[in-house]
Amino acid sequence: MATINTVRGPISPDDLGLTLSHEHIAAAYPGWECDPLSRPYDREKIVRVCLRSLDPVKEYGVRSIIDATPADLSRDVEVLKRVSDQADINIICATGRYTEEEGKWAYLKQRSRAGVGDMRDELYDGFMHEITQGIGGSGVRPGVIKVATGRGRITHLEEAMLRAAARASRETGVPVITHTEDGTMGPEQADILIGEGADPDRIMIGHMCGNSSFEYQMDVLGRRVSVSFDRFGIELFLPDKVRTAVLAGLLAAGYVGRIMLSQDFIACGFGRGGSWPEEVRRKMANWSFVNIFRNIIPALKKAGVTEEQIRTMTVDNPRRLLAGA
Ligand SMILES: [Zn+2]
Repeated sequence: MATINTVRGPISPDDLGLTLSHEHIAAAYPGWECDPLSRPYDREKIVRVCLRSLDPVKEYGVRSIIDATPADLSRDVEVLKRVSDQADINIICATGRYTEEEGKWAYLKQRSRAGVGDMRDELYDGFMHEITQGIGGSGVRPGVIKVATGRGRITHLEEAMLRAAARASRETGVPVITHTEDGTMGPEQADILIGEGADPDRIMIGHMCGNSSFEYQMDVLGRRVSVSFDRFGIELFLPDKVRTAVLAGLLAAGYVGRIMLSQDFIACGFGRGGSWPEEVRRKMANWSFVNIFRNIIPALKKAGVTEEQIRTMTVDNPRRLLAGA
């Protein structure tokens, strides 16, 4: 049977258990490292902050977390290893890249412009290197390939990223998980990935709970890929009530085998810090690693969703995505 790469090494699919499908232990948008007022990068402190946020998950039986942080959002495998060890929780980390607009692309773009390297090949080589040799000198191998596209369109560069990821996934069996801007370009992402040979069972289209159209959801699910309802608590973009209603509808329509749950929470960001305005704070009040357990699952149960369906979404579906069985 296949094993799953975690930051503590490979595990058996049976050890995965209850799994959050898309979170961030520590992450930040590029640029904080150029801000002279950014707080010093202190791993000890970062780990402490992450552990504090993870503390309440134990009470709900969470065993594993997919950390969807790509290389260009300040992924730090050393932090992930320490957090995984100290919290005694499996963390599946990612190789991959973020959107053209918000990721770190200048280096590869310049190489491509100068004719030094082909963007698609260089991305593929990078994904394969991390999957087969490990990340840096850490020995840690990623368990997912994270890719991302912007709102309402897929740029040439993002298409190259999707194709490189699909190729690496096809050859290694490591699944592809995606970022969409509020669920836009979901069908297009799936078509490109599948067209390049990725197995639909090994594809999870992310942030789909940002899109409240049933028809659109079914358009994506019709491609036989999985979707991630992974932004519960980010009510700044869409109320949880809307996300929950769409989810309940999809469950009623029989899609339980293709949906995963999470919160896209970031336990620790970097930079100079600061606080949100009052209105933002109000709309983000439930955002945490445990919002789905405290608020969403109880609401789903009230709507008639069964314990078995919850288990399918939080245990069986992540296992199938990560291990194929
Ligand atoms: Zn995310």
